Formats: sequence, structure tokens, C-alpha cells
Amino acid sequence: MPPVVRFAPSPTGFLHIGGVHTALFNWLYARHEGGEFRLRIENTDTSREVAEASEQIMESLRWLGLDWDGEVTYQLDRMERCKEEAERLVAEGKAYEDEGAIRIRMPDEGSTSWEDLVRGHIEVPSEKLEDLVAVRADGRPTYNFASPVEDWLDGITHVIRGEDHISNTPKQIRVLEALGAPLPEYAHLGNIYGPDGKKLSKRHGAVSVEEFRTAGYYAPALLNYLALLGWSYDDRTEIFSRDDLVRLFTLERVGASPAVFDYDKLNHLNGLYLRALSPEEYADALLAWLREQGYEWDEGLVKKAAPLVQEKIGTLGEFPAFAGFFFDRVAPDPALLDGSGPLLAEARSVLADLEPFDSERVEGSLRELAERQGLKPRQAFQPIRAAVTGSKISPGLFESIELLGREETLARLDAAAGGF
Ligand code: GLU
Repeated sequence: MPPVVRFAPSPTGFLHIGGVHTALFNWLYARHEGGEFRLRIENTDTSREVAEASEQIMESLRWLGLDWDGEVTYQLDRMERCKEEAERLVAEGKAYEDEGAIRIRMPDEGSTSWEDLVRGHIEVPSEKLEDLVAVRADGRPTYNFASPVEDWLDGITHVIRGEDHISNTPKQIRVLEALGAPLPEYAHLGNIYGPDGKKLSKRHGAVSVEEFRTAGYYAPALLNYLALLGWSYDDRTEIFSRDDLVRLFTLERVGASPAVFDYDKLNHLNGLYLRALSPEEYADALLAWLREQGYEWDEGLVKKAAPLVQEKIGTLGEFPAFAGFFFDRVAPDPALLDGSGPLLAEARSVLADLEPFDSERVEGSLRELAERQGLKPRQAFQPIRAAVTGSKISPGLFESIELLGREETLARLDAAAGGF
């Protein structure tokens, strides 16, 4: 029977790295096995915040290509059913009323155990389990009751989730037994820590999918990186496309140890992915990101600038700072121009009559200029670069000048030289 798994986020905000990691491992398991991946929102009210957070979570999953099967379900829609089940358990003597709440009896003796697909045998002595509040006095079912009820209703065969939930599992097993429901398999994934060994948080950098998207990470690279947190194929291979992951993923190769989120490694992977794109794919990814972020830069110019930056930046988010000078006038740091007025004026006059105005001729003429002035090329190019691009670091100077065009280049050289 093909497995049915679920991702069951609580809609409290943006989708966090830990959450999306759980979602990914569930999705990979389902897709590898030809099963189903369900999305269940564990909401306890219907506020606007919940609606927004749910939409955000779905948008993040869509961006990463983690498609779910069937309709999204909402925990709140099953509250009545949960209460009915709790009342049934009271009628059957498996639960009882206690100051208005309903509690399910936990065994007094023995233990509750399961074979965790990631961690092996786990056994919890019964003395650790208090009778579980299933429905609170105000009528609201608890998480530890609603969640297994829903797993049962949805025919969930494998519960794959973070290790934070290990302590809930014996209670949920007892709930399912009381309900007369079949038990799913359980697999508890390791936590994700920051480079300092503390739980991943804002202090470490971006932590939500949305933040990585805004920072210009490429979805397939982030997906690839997330898969490596706790899963490995052969301890060597690091680049896996979505299809590779689906083909190769198994729970046997998921480890129980915590993983460290290594931002440098992600950046490295992201750069590899971006550089491996065809020029057209790269330009499309860049345009899509710029549009999302609200930049209204000329599309044709973005496409022409794309090949000049593809080898040089590791995230799309670096583009505005690195190549924004193609779209907006620049204000170079005067320290970068210091004493270079005559050189800039000379560069202006050399470029004014250059025909045709292409990068090769621009390069030739500026090299000659440096030689005439007795300067090393780098010395001469630095102020020119600053005048034209506004910065010490830029895409190739000659290609940039060609793309900016004669008129704009001369205007910028004039403006920069004018200060001296
Ligand atoms: N809503 C729970 C959470 O976000 C998930 C519980 C589960 O997977 O059983 O941590």
C-alpha cells in the first residue's frame, strides 16, 4: 500500500527552516514511494493572522516545488469530530470527565514503545504518562488528541516530524489505540542548529523560507541544501536535483544526529546552481526575482546585464548592489576618485570618439591611456571604475562601459571629474 504522509504546520508565522525541512523529508518520502503528501494546517482559530500565515506557508512550499496531494485540511474543521470521538471514549470507559475536561486513561504499568524509522527502538515507561487531557474544559481538543485523530481520519501511514515531538509520540500511540485506529510508523528527524551549536534562530541569519527567497537564493539550491541536513546518499555527492532526490531518498539514510545549518555551504551551493544555468535561464531567474522584490528596471537591460554578473555573484540578491549602476546614476565615494580628475578627463576624451563603442575597443583605448600616463592598468582603471559604476567592485569594466553606452559613460566621467 503506498504511504500517506503529512506536513502539519501550526500557522504561527513564516515557514521556518526546521518546518520546511520536515516538509521536504515527508514530500521526498511520498514521492519516492509513489505515495501521498498531505498538507494539514493545525489551526486553532480562524483569525486573519492564521489565514495569512497559512497562505505564506503554502506560498513557500509552492516556491520550493513541494506540491501536496488533495485539498489542504484545517484542524479547526475537525474539532466537532474530535469531541465526538472523545465522548465515544468516555462511553467506552477509556476516558473520563474531570472538572469539565475529558481525560484519556494511560496505562498504569508497562511501557509504550515503537520502532522509530530513524532512531530505532524507543520505549517510555508508563509512569511517565499522565492521563491525557483530550478536550479542555472550554471544549477545545488538545494537540495531542486532535493530531492522532486527524492522522487516523487521513489514513496517515508514516508520521515524519522533528525530534521535538518524540515526547508526544507515546501519548499519541495510546490515543490511537484507544480509538481503535491502526498505528502509523514514526520517524523523528534531528534538529537543526546554528553554527554555534544553538537552535537555529534569527541571530544566525535568515531562518524562514521567505527570507531566503527575498535574499535571492535559488529554490533548487535551497532544496538541495535542505536535503543534506540529516540525509546523505554516499557521504560524497552534494549536488542533487529534485529528480535525483526523489529517486534516491530513503529513510534508511536519514541520521538521527542534529544537523548544523552552514550558511557558507548554502552560499557555495547557490553560486554553483546559478552559474550552471544557461544565460537565458539565469536572466529569467533574475528578472523573476527583481519583479518579486518590486524593482521596475528595464527588462532588456537586465537581460543584457545578466551575463556580466552570472559568474560573479552567488545570490540574486547581490544584483542590485553589484549592478544597480546600470539602472541608476551613481554617487562614488570621493576617496576613490581622489586626485584622478585629469585621468578621468583624459578617459572621457578617449572614449568620446571611439568607434565602434564596444568592450574590445574600450579596453584597448583605456590600456593605451594607462600606458601613456605611466600607470599600471589597475591604478588607472580603479578611478574610472569608481566613476562609472560607483564602486571598487563591479562587473567587468569594459563590458560595463559598453553596456552603459557612450553618452551615459561620458556623463558619469564628467560628473566625477568635475569635482577636481
Ligand atoms: N503542528 C505541529 C508543529 O508544527 C506538528 C505536529 C506533528 O507533526 O505531529 O510542530
